[in-house]
Amino acid sequence: GITALENSSHLQHPGEMILHGRQACNFAKINGRDKIRLYNEDDIAVKERRRDIYWVPIIRKALRENDLFLVFQPVVQLNNGDISHYEVLLRMRGEDGEAITPDQFIPVAERMGLIHAIDLWVVENAIDFLAALPSYLSRVSLAINLSGAAFQYPDLLQVIRDKLELTWVDAGRLTFEITETAAVDNFERTRDMINKIRELGCKFALDDFGAGFCSFNYLKTFPVDYVKIDGQFVRNLDNNETDQILVKSMVEIAGKLGKRTIAEFVETPSIALKLKEIGVNLGQGYAFGKPDRNLLDGHQVSLAILLNSQKPLLNNDEI
Ligand code: C2E
Ligand code: CA
Ligand code: CA
Repeated sequence: GITALENSSHLQHPGEMILHGRQACNFAKINGRDKIRLYNEDDIAVKERRRDIYWVPIIRKALRENDLFLVFQPVVQLNNGDISHYEVLLRMRGEDGEAITPDQFIPVAERMGLIHAIDLWVVENAIDFLAALPSYLSRVSLAINLSGAAFQYPDLLQVIRDKLELTWVDAGRLTFEITETAAVDNFERTRDMINKIRELGCKFALDDFGAGFCSFNYLKTFPVDYVKIDGQFVRNLDNNETDQILVKSMVEIAGKLGKRTIAEFVETPSIALKLKEIGVNLGQGYAFGKPDRNLLDGHQVSLAILLNSQKPLLNNDEI
């Protein structure tokens, strides 16, 4: 690993220069060893590393001081507009009270070994949320995102079981969403863990379906109840014939395997209608409701009426 003095004019301390040399050396090793690597400020790997170092104490503090919170987005039955359940999405409270979205800190947490603590925090808090709901909302259920790392730790099962027992929340009110990238590490262990959690009565969904290269392999390997069609196929569905063909075939395959389909990124009423026509079971997206701290559903009544109506209204303005 080499770093040049001329690139380091802004450095405050000789130790920083040694650190750069060491980072360059680490990248040489990561990239297959037996290599020489020159430190480069613009390197993506360098930037990522710097970002990681910046975020780690912030994430630790957020976990410690409860600066994390959950928001909920409705998933709607396309045949009648009823809410089937809500997806739980994680947010971090920023310095000025703003909500930081998970794409900013979850990848870092995954790389830096903090993701398991986050997964457990989300599971426990989501179950607590259900337990605290008034009795007239006792049928509300939630879908919780899990990282791939979650399945590599045996305590996940125990945490879910203990929390359900302690709160008396019915396991059938929980679905866990797993993604292709998430489960990649250890197929067998992941499948075993999924089976054990299913034995408790929880359900599973395969998230981001179609986005990766091994979607069908995942569908074959993991016992899931729902297939969530990736938003990239849904977003422009009403004017993209390729997307329509792909979504139709996903629906057919999932249906034949006895799984229900959910489309994400349903942004307009006309897409919701198109999905209904194709035979997708459930929809989620800004057209039905944005992620929110409360389980508010009043604003989607007009769309429910639309989904129920026989004659299709296709214009946004008509709603
Ligand atoms: P995801 O599981 O695919 O979640 C869907 C994302 O799409 C959410 O972003 C949601 O806010 C956004 N979304 C919903 N409807 C629409 C729409 O109509 N249009 C568009 N353009 N976007 C829509 P968010 O909340 O930023 O989450 C991003 C990702 O972070 C999630 O993707 C999930 O992979 C991960 N994530 C979120 N919460 C958690 C969590 O509690 N634990 C773990 N491990 N990962 C989480
Ligand atoms: Ca998800
Ligand atoms: Ca998704």
